[in-house]
Amino acid sequence: MDFTRTNEQESIRSAVRSLCAQFPDEYWRELDRASDYPERFVRALTDAGWLGALIPTEYGGAGLGIADAALIIEEINASGGNAAVAHAQMYTMGTVLRHGSDEQKGRYLPRLAKGELRLQAFGVTEPEAGSETTRIKTMATRRGDRYVINGKKIFISRAEHSDLLLLLARTTPYDELTDKTRGLSVFIVDLRAAVAAGRIVVRPIETMLNHHTTELFIDDLEVPASDRVGEEGMGFRHIIDSWNAERILIASESLGDGRWFVERAAAYASGRVVFGRPIGSNQGVQFPLAQAHARLEAASLMRDKAAWLFDHARKCGAEANMAKLLASQAAWDAANAAIDAYGGYGFAREYDVERKFRETRLLLVAPIGNNLVLAYIGQHVLGTAARSTSRSSISRTACRRQRKMRRDERSRTCWLARRGAGRSVSCASSVR
Ligand SMILES: Cc1cc2nc3c(=O)[nH]c(=O)nc-3n(C[C@H](O)[C@H](O)[C@H](O)COP(=O)(O)OP(=O)(O)OC[C@H]3O[C@@H](n4cnc5c(N)ncnc54)[C@H](O)[C@@H]3O)c2cc1C
Repeated sequence: MDFTRTNEQESIRSAVRSLCAQFPDEYWRELDRASDYPERFVRALTDAGWLGALIPTEYGGAGLGIADAALIIEEINASGGNAAVAHAQMYTMGTVLRHGSDEQKGRYLPRLAKGELRLQAFGVTEPEAGSETTRIKTMATRRGDRYVINGKKIFISRAEHSDLLLLLARTTPYDELTDKTRGLSVFIVDLRAAVAAGRIVVRPIETMLNHHTTELFIDDLEVPASDRVGEEGMGFRHIIDSWNAERILIASESLGDGRWFVERAAAYASGRVVFGRPIGSNQGVQFPLAQAHARLEAASLMRDKAAWLFDHARKCGAEANMAKLLASQAAWDAANAAIDAYGGYGFAREYDVERKFRETRLLLVAPIGNNLVLAYIGQHVLGTAARSTSRSSISRTACRRQRKMRRDERSRTCWLARRGAGRSVSCASSVR
């Protein structure tokens, strides 16, 4: 097994590090204070080609894989910045590249690669459905060569800073579906035009961090059928390719944050002298940082494995989810070790620890709560229960297994009922 990075990967890291050096702590601190979007940073990232990293070369992109994109994202966060301001342009590619038509790719990708357009908004979450994505209600109704979309989305980040929106909407009512993972479809929406025409109203949501997230109110929005990505009704399956990419990139943001905390805190602990010696010489300060470092290194291996599988078009749901889980936890351990090492100074804005602390906390909850990741591992990797959690990347085999288990259970109950041994049940009702 070869764990060394290629020369190309090392040069990606060093180029991104140099770019980030032009955007020091004060830049991010001031944006955080003013709740401003890092327009200058995103422009620089685009001009350098990093936001087109995953776009194939024939469309003017860099043609890199997710393993390389992961390094770009990790370096941004390790430098003290926050890749969340621009990461969607990378993970939305998971769906667009694998399921978009040649016509769609030809229409959008060259302009995205050049930086003429931004695809920075990903519209999945809804207020009532929450983590249960298969329950979303935003409805896309087919009328001739168009869809008319109505509904509401919540926590849709960067909608005010993106030209396009990758939107998940329902095309078949939930109650009419046998397989609840069907009936959803993905659309590329011209967000700027929709907002200008009053078909999408964007309402910013203030949060504990500088994240530019919003609510979207969608009212009779017309989208050409040619902007549907992939098959109608298969949107949930198509979006999983973006979710897996997103998990790998979120793991990378976590790893970058974690490295930042450990490096900064180790340096601070070596220089801060109390009781006549550097605080870092006390095991109570040193060990949590050492522990965090070890956990980050381990999570990094899982991230690399997930990225390798993704790039080789192999199944990677389990690994992408585990990478997200382990890296976000490791980063959070590092954040706590760092704030302890800094003592009172960890709470002072000028040290940036509290800002990164807030940013890192999000990664335990979004884009998927770690409970849901554990539920995915428990149910779909270990097969320990039959309830489905739709935000996870459900495998078809696991779904089939669950349906068969439910059918078997139902048959058993009916069999017992017919013999007067079981609960009273209606054996005629359908079993999925
Ligand atoms: C700053 C921010 C930015 C975001 N950006 C985007 C975006 O750009 N696009 C987008 O589509 N979404 C976005 N989201 C939404 C995010 O993906 C959701 O918040 C997340 O998926 C959880 O959904 P929810 O908030 O509705 O929580 P709920 O589904 O209500 O869950 C609440 C809590 O209960 C836990 N929980 C739920 N069900 C179970 C269960 N069965 N077992 C155990 N625990 C459970 C969850 O893990 C969570 O911790 C963003 C969120 C935030 C906060």
